[in-house]
Amino acid sequence: MKVLITGGTGYIGSHTSVELINKGIDVVIVDNLSNSDFEVVNRIERITGVRPAFYKTDICSRSELFRVFENEKIDSVIHFAALKSISESVEKPLLYYENNVTGTMNVCEAMKRFNVKKIVLSSSAAVYGLTGNNPLKEEAPLFPYNPYGRTKMIQEHIVSDFAESESFGAVILRYFNPIGAHESGLIGENPKGKPSNLMPYISQVAAGRLEKLFVFGSDYKTPDGTGVRDYIHVSDLARGHLQALIKLENNTGVFTYNIGSGRGHSVLDMIKSFEKASGRKIAFELAERRPGDVDMCYADSSLAEKELDWKAECSIDKMCADEWRWQKLNPNGYE
Ligand code: NAD
Ligand code: UDP
Repeated sequence: MKVLITGGTGYIGSHTSVELINKGIDVVIVDNLSNSDFEVVNRIERITGVRPAFYKTDICSRSELFRVFENEKIDSVIHFAALKSISESVEKPLLYYENNVTGTMNVCEAMKRFNVKKIVLSSSAAVYGLTGNNPLKEEAPLFPYNPYGRTKMIQEHIVSDFAESESFGAVILRYFNPIGAHESGLIGENPKGKPSNLMPYISQVAAGRLEKLFVFGSDYKTPDGTGVRDYIHVSDLARGHLQALIKLENNTGVFTYNIGSGRGHSVLDMIKSFEKASGRKIAFELAERRPGDVDMCYADSSLAEKELDWKAECSIDKMCADEWRWQKLNPNGYE
């Protein structure tokens, strides 16, 4: 089986590439490196012993993307490539609609043209927005609270309408908060510039690269007032994609699953766990709420357990230990 992975040098794409290659699947990566590094391809090879095919291609260029499909005989697509910062999407909504929506349209067009009938789409808990009833089930109404979340909801609509009209198979995975890194310490999250997500920020504070964490909001309706999220180890998440491909072996239609641990942890909880894993003190300051944030968000992932035979396995302690190993071994990211 040959799987095209858009965004495959990114954080989740690289871990998923490793997972698939370790299962003997051929991987073709397409990435424009706007938020990742070519070195990731070398690291994937070091971990797996297999070098994936790599195309430095922008999926917003339909002709370039078609060229990849012409060169490779693709069986399935896992579509990760997207911009993902909530705060940046509030500042630059058009950039987000352009990249995330146009890119997804092009991926679908290419699949249709080259008769590729299976797709796994990266979606996000951000599609639920303010619907409120935690733990969130897949049938909760979608009410994304920021432009990024709206691009994810539109991606879902595009992929499901397209898959239904063509009788293709699509699995939509709504990730909660992926953190941690591969246990080798060779790949991990490496945001360009200052991190916008909590865990890379905390780990850079622990490493002394950043002075202190700003805790965005301490007056939320949560047990300690700080935001609550459902953190999941990126390797557990990567395994979910393999299970999604297995699901599509014998099924057409559209299937949507929450991929989370089912447990909520506050920002202060995460600071404590990271201090334990790293043995370092995390300096922090309570700050204003961040625009676009919700107070609390955690998953009911029982449908994925039932239908994909998938369940999150790693503890928060392991997530923090793996995140810290990655940070220590790569103080300047992939440089
Ligand atoms: P990432 O930024 O590390 O990876 C995305 C990759 O896509 C990057 O390598 C980037 O260079 C590439 N890319 C972006 N636009 C592209 C384009 N037009 N053409 C080609 N490549 C392009 O992000 P990630 O955390 O690995 O996220 C992967 C997917 O998961 C995204 O779709 C994101 O929305 C979704 N997601 C992420 C999270 C999270 O917290 N990390 C949570 C929920 C959903
Ligand atoms: N957060 C924070 N400081 C930061 C980054 C994030 O306090 O520098 C908080 C944020 O408000 C949220 C939680 O940490 O409550 C997780 O944020 P992240 O951006 O990692 O994920 P998302 O908001 O997309 O779920």
